[in-house]
Amino acid sequence: MPMIDLRSDTVTKPTAGMRHAMANAEVGDDVYGEDPTVNRLEMLAAELLGKEAGLFVPTGVMGNQLCIRLHTQPGDEVIVEHSAHILRYEGGSASSISGVQLCPVPGARGLLSHDAVEAAIRSPDLHTPQTTLLCLEQTHNVGGGSVYPLETFQALTDLARRYGLALHLDGARVFNASAKTGVSVAEYAYLFDTVSFCLSKGLGAPVGSVIVSDAVRIAKLRRLRKMLGGGMRQVGILAAAGIYALGHHVSRLAEDHLNAQHLAQRLHNIPGVVVNVDSVETNMVMFQVPQSSKSTEQLLVECREAGVLLNAIGDRSFRAVTHLDVTRDDMDAAGKVFAHVFVSP
Ligand SMILES: *Cc1c(COP(=O)(O)O)cnc(C)c1O
Repeated sequence: MPMIDLRSDTVTKPTAGMRHAMANAEVGDDVYGEDPTVNRLEMLAAELLGKEAGLFVPTGVMGNQLCIRLHTQPGDEVIVEHSAHILRYEGGSASSISGVQLCPVPGARGLLSHDAVEAAIRSPDLHTPQTTLLCLEQTHNVGGGSVYPLETFQALTDLARRYGLALHLDGARVFNASAKTGVSVAEYAYLFDTVSFCLSKGLGAPVGSVIVSDAVRIAKLRRLRKMLGGGMRQVGILAAAGIYALGHHVSRLAEDHLNAQHLAQRLHNIPGVVVNVDSVETNMVMFQVPQSSKSTEQLLVECREAGVLLNAIGDRSFRAVTHLDVTRDDMDAAGKVFAHVFVSP
């Protein structure tokens, strides 16, 4: 039985067209700057996001961490939302690689407010760490794929500029945000010094992220990437997947969002399931079954045995993520499984 895998949008497999592009990629030694396919991907990414230059990196974590290293000195403080990927899921690397501390600020569904950020910025004082960087996340993962409205972004980045902070966008899913709002990724990126986005999430590439920024910063980031062992050789084979993803998989993200809406509606119709359909903005559906007599683990096992994979995000609390390897019919099939497993009086 083929599984319907809703654990994450990272589980996609390269399509036949993508594999073809990878197999036929022209390559060279990228550490010498001689891989034409990597160069093409970096230029394409920079162009799409309206920046001067790009840097291909193996993972989104490396993208974020190189940028934190670039923007800070050891002992500095970096403001992040308290459930930010940078804080929760990057292995503590901001403290170990850059020697900075993260200042976690609570947001609403992952989204920070102007006043909360302003209150967290330290005044210059001998005793306190110096706040030097604000990192925002678009869309917000733990927030449920939530999207910062452009005006909020503008207010937050204006505020950060006023205090002289550098600005980094963890734009792992910034293309999902753009698909939702119609605001271009370049309009979002314009507000930040550095932006990193993932090719390996909803865009469906097997590997990779790209950082975009001005040429001077990208040159520094390239050196930092080498320091961390991220200088890769004939990596055009992977960059080709990224180029293919940007060419073929951006315009279909709206389909993932519709599928998530559809799934949320089906979940909403199941007695005992708590889901806020209106909060489903992009490709993630968060839901709870607080009254279920079964344990979280048992619920996951029953779903798995019926052919659906999910992630638990808390006690009887789950996340379903749509992506290019699941269809509208899969949503109906998953909905039926959920109706059996999750129904409670
Ligand atoms: C996935 C993700 C990353 C990077 O993850 P990698 O697995 O290292 O590519 C960064 N930020 C957010 C918000 C993410 O969801």
